[in-house]
Amino acid sequence: SFDECYIKSVMRTIPDWPEPGVMFRDITPLFKDPKALRMIADSFIQRYIDTEVTHIASIDARGFLFGSIMAYQLNIPLVLVRKKGKLPGKTIHREYALEYGTAAVEMQVDAVSKGDKVLIFDDLIATGGTILAASTIIKELGAEVYEAAALIDLPDLKGSELIQQAGIPVYTLLAYE
Ligand code: 5GP
Repeated sequence: SFDECYIKSVMRTIPDWPEPGVMFRDITPLFKDPKALRMIADSFIQRYIDTEVTHIASIDARGFLFGSIMAYQLNIPLVLVRKKGKLPGKTIHREYALEYGTAAVEMQVDAVSKGDKVLIFDDLIATGGTILAASTIIKELGAEVYEAAALIDLPDLKGSELIQQAGIPVYTLLAYE
């Protein structure tokens, strides 16, 4: 079963990265520890097995790592939410605000469609901007957002709250105050 203390002991925090004042929660050690990775994957699979979820929409780039494990185990399609300019063919993008400036995420227009129940997956929720932009695209393509899931929530930044206020349930395994 999921052991929060164990996962936190494997995780690493890098102060002042990528800029001064940021405490970056580094998930890369989890991928060097098969016990930790399996514990995380199994928890998410338990939650979403035998649900109505039809697609995993994983977010560039650390969301891809967990998303592909989930899609394989749940035996459902994996679609990509990428940073703008990375996907070929016909795409749709949405911008969102950063502390300084803006960013944009993008999907291929045939990634999801009407009737699909999409689980959005990323490693971490900070301001919620990335997941909200992804959910806007998914809805514009006619699909439904089933839930947004991430390994880590930073509740002080109120992103998960904002996502829930937009009517999207949120599920995370760990929080860092
Ligand atoms: P948001 O859009 O919620 O503000 O930011 C979430 C996005 O930024 C996620 O895609 C996540 O990968 C990345 N991110 C922001 N801060 C951190 C952090 O401390 N650790 C990790 N692993 N990712 C972060």
